[in-house]
Amino acid sequence: MEAQKTRAQMDARYTWKLEDIFPSDSAWEAEYAALAPCIAQAASFAGKLETALPEALPALEEAEHRLTRLYAYARMRRDEDNGNTFYQGLADRAQALAVQLSTATAYFGPEILALGCEKVEAVLKAHPELCRFRRLLEEQLRLEAHTLPAAQEKLLAAMGELAGAPDTVYSMLTDADLKFGCVTNEKGETVELTHGRFIPLQQCEDRAVREAAYKTYYAAYRAHTNTIAATYAASVKKDAFFARARGYGSAREQSLFENEIPESVYDALIEAVHRHLPAMHRYLALRKAALRLPELRFWDIYAPIVPEGDLGLPYEEAAKLVQEGLAPLGEAYIRDLSQAFTSGWIDVYENAGKTSGAYSWGVYGTHPYVLLNYQKTLDSLFTIAHELGHAMHSYYSDKNQSFLNSEYPLFLAEIASTTNEAILLQSLKRKWTDRERRMALCNYQLEQIRGTVYRQTLFAEFEREVHAMAARGEALTAESLTAVYRALNERYYKGAVVDDDIASEWMRIPHFYRAFYVYQYATGYSAAVAFSRRVLSGDAEKREKYLGFLAAGGSQPPLETLRRAGVDMESPEPVEECLRSFEEALDELETLMKEA
Ligand SMILES: [Zn+2]
Repeated sequence: MEAQKTRAQMDARYTWKLEDIFPSDSAWEAEYAALAPCIAQAASFAGKLETALPEALPALEEAEHRLTRLYAYARMRRDEDNGNTFYQGLADRAQALAVQLSTATAYFGPEILALGCEKVEAVLKAHPELCRFRRLLEEQLRLEAHTLPAAQEKLLAAMGELAGAPDTVYSMLTDADLKFGCVTNEKGETVELTHGRFIPLQQCEDRAVREAAYKTYYAAYRAHTNTIAATYAASVKKDAFFARARGYGSAREQSLFENEIPESVYDALIEAVHRHLPAMHRYLALRKAALRLPELRFWDIYAPIVPEGDLGLPYEEAAKLVQEGLAPLGEAYIRDLSQAFTSGWIDVYENAGKTSGAYSWGVYGTHPYVLLNYQKTLDSLFTIAHELGHAMHSYYSDKNQSFLNSEYPLFLAEIASTTNEAILLQSLKRKWTDRERRMALCNYQLEQIRGTVYRQTLFAEFEREVHAMAARGEALTAESLTAVYRALNERYYKGAVVDDDIASEWMRIPHFYRAFYVYQYATGYSAAVAFSRRVLSGDAEKREKYLGFLAAGGSQPPLETLRRAGVDMESPEPVEECLRSFEEALDELETLMKEA
């Protein structure tokens, strides 16, 4: 095998220009030194907000902004080569500084709440130049009704470390102590089974390899079933405790209230997905037929049903396809986007020690950055469109909003990326006429919606049920949790054999330790499909509204931002629209398969 290139050997034309953040490491050092007094300044307003709010707000903003630049540079340098100890050191120091800043400014939220709406409003009236801080202040103040007297708040804060225990214990068990043993891959090599290797092994064409990996992986979890159940039960009870203490009806009410999402959005998502379960069952039947299987097992769910999407596509051609495919977003968007390819936004290829996967990082005051590990596959092509969706969201938010208002919340975070994927997909469907590649596109679309909408909604429903059981005083044991999870799988995956392993899948989902979080993947995906259809309709007004969404950043509550852009997440329509697109892709794939 050819040895991987080192970072120093990489062609500069395909690497990002972090020099645009700091021209040199010594410039970074100088800024690092300059931040200490800046943080001290932000901290100096503790206990004084009643009179010093007009000075404190810009000081906090400046410290935060400068820190994010320092942090971004160090982390992205480290991601270039994780074995580089110099940049490990920079990243560690930036991390420590971030902790220092958040500790030094922890007074801010409680003091704003202590001031109350009226006093804050009076300051904003007297200082119109502070209007960019309104959203930040309102976000704090809406927690007023759920804030306790100081002594009780102190008690809850002191519980913080303890409250993190279930998550820490779970992560220690599953990331450090749990060993999965070895399996044989499709090349006949013995490899150690790890979290990172599990899904690639499930995507293997050799069924025996998939089955062995599946059984080995779940066996390790099931050997710790009582420990994991007790850990998860503790996590659920911890959330219920804090919610009750703050006067919420449930942990879900608290989580959604804090994110400014009504609970009806959550329930409506589940109901809409239920209405479209027959399409999922039809997809599973198609999968079983395509793979020519006597029965569909859960180790067949990730297996490719059409030949692998290895397009042999050089990066330049992929970049061109992405830019052409996104043309429906308008000339201005395409012009702005072209900078990504010419001005050092993207780090394209893999090298020794580089962080795997892909991400986009918006750096306010500089352009955004994108890390890729480009392979010549269909997946990699869509990854470019996806990450550039994030990047352009940051680009427009940064251009139009103040630093604090530019950052968008998680509910909105995956929309721009997925919208780009959906637009690219439709344009490729028009461009590619050969059966194989059209099938690969349908398969890609179906797997995206299965994984993001159906699967995450199943998770969301599991969380809703488990928290309700706890509220009713029912025991959360390995047996009861597995029974709930089994029933959900029987409903969602009708037609596949629901075995004892998949009924235990809840044991391996770390997101459950961040309660009521995952539903946002499904709602975000649905909003993206809705937006892509509006943009593709060719209606210029609809396109402008979408671009307005990109420019809004986090300046409004998330649902309001979406509503203004033409997508109402309080109506069932976006989720319905998304699931109809699943059915259309399914129809198309069925037709294409019959042509064989
Ligand atoms: Zn993303």
